[in-house]
Amino acid sequence: MVICADDDAWTKHFCGTSNRAKSPSTLHRRLPLCVSESIFHRSMSSSIRKSFSTLNVTFLGTASAQPSTTRNHSALALRLGKDVWLFDCGEATQHQLQKSSVKMGKIEKIFITHTHGDHIFGLTALMASLLNGAGGITEEGSDPRLNVDTTIAALEVYGPLGTRAYVRNSLAYTHTQLGSSYVVHELRFPSDPPSGDFTMLAPQSGECHFGRNIQQVDGCWQHIYKDDVISVSAAPIHHSVPCVGYVVTEAPVAGKVDPSKYIPELKRTRTPMTVMRQLQQGESVLLSDGTILHGPARRKGRKIVILGDTCDPSPMSALAQDADLLIHEATNAHLPGIDPATKPSDTHETVQERAISRGHSTPQMAGAFALRVGARRLVLNHFSARYSGDDSEESRRIMDAIGQLAASEFKQNVVCATDLMSLDISLREQ
Ligand SMILES: [Zn+2]
Ligand SMILES: [Zn+2]
Repeated sequence: MVICADDDAWTKHFCGTSNRAKSPSTLHRRLPLCVSESIFHRSMSSSIRKSFSTLNVTFLGTASAQPSTTRNHSALALRLGKDVWLFDCGEATQHQLQKSSVKMGKIEKIFITHTHGDHIFGLTALMASLLNGAGGITEEGSDPRLNVDTTIAALEVYGPLGTRAYVRNSLAYTHTQLGSSYVVHELRFPSDPPSGDFTMLAPQSGECHFGRNIQQVDGCWQHIYKDDVISVSAAPIHHSVPCVGYVVTEAPVAGKVDPSKYIPELKRTRTPMTVMRQLQQGESVLLSDGTILHGPARRKGRKIVILGDTCDPSPMSALAQDADLLIHEATNAHLPGIDPATKPSDTHETVQERAISRGHSTPQMAGAFALRVGARRLVLNHFSARYSGDDSEESRRIMDAIGQLAASEFKQNVVCATDLMSLDISLREQ
């Protein structure tokens, strides 16, 4: 049986009535995304995400190629208040989650940048834990755990072509039976088949049938997810295989209220102080004497750009403009006199050439891109196995030097991520 996983199927599904019978609390956690504002309002009116003040990034894995005792394979957790989104899910990401303060049970979406193993080998293992996976029963009769409601998705996965097939086949051939549902939405490149699942295997228990195949429009995938407070877009970036970068954008937030501007007026007109709440939301308040107080204008929300492996992310320059945080790989660096493994024949040019030929970047390339898109902060990740990132003096010297190479282009300090490093992204003052 061929399962239709195109946009139409998704639209029909979510504009239908089946979800409306669910309770609002269930919908808040489980209902999937929307492509357009209109669809959102018709299908998700009872599932508005609450605004959040904490936006935090935790690096769960910062290695390229091979993991080590100090650097795990790629994975990054973005905490939006209490909700967690994961970007990439390399081998043993579950272990890293357990070592961190990120709550695994709060993961609601997983975004895969590309299907290289160091970014995806941990995905189905994590899904099995997250979605109550089991290996079947030996008794006769059907396993009650297989009665999974696949009209709604408990977990959403996004990734390029192959992500859905990888998950489906991996779960099927390991006899993993999920106790909860999931859906995979794929970002299709123009050269990809526009429909189909890229596998002959039919969806197994737990997979929702409304996974979208999202086509590029004007070179990117705008608003693959959007709600009232946050949206996600993506664009292709150059690597050795199809790869994407994600941009997470917070909607404008309430402006900063200066109480000294309002309180004397409220006291003078004996207006209840509770109107401060309206002013805080940017609303205007009419006082008893006819004066109108205007709340502060809304501030720009935060923007985070998370790139997959790349030797050139320029196709996403426009989307990445003015990012509060840019996370860019820096797999290879030329560090003569600092890195004892430097070959005498190496030069900056040969190292960069080698990095590009494998679809990767040097710190200088990352710094130049950060400058070009006007990023406020740059964090490097995805380091070669030779940069262990441990606490030794030599490792610190090497990582400092890598940061400085990027900073020489970016003209600002650059941070080299370590595993389990966590940073908050704060709102701008204006
Ligand atoms: Zn990689
Ligand atoms: Zn890769």
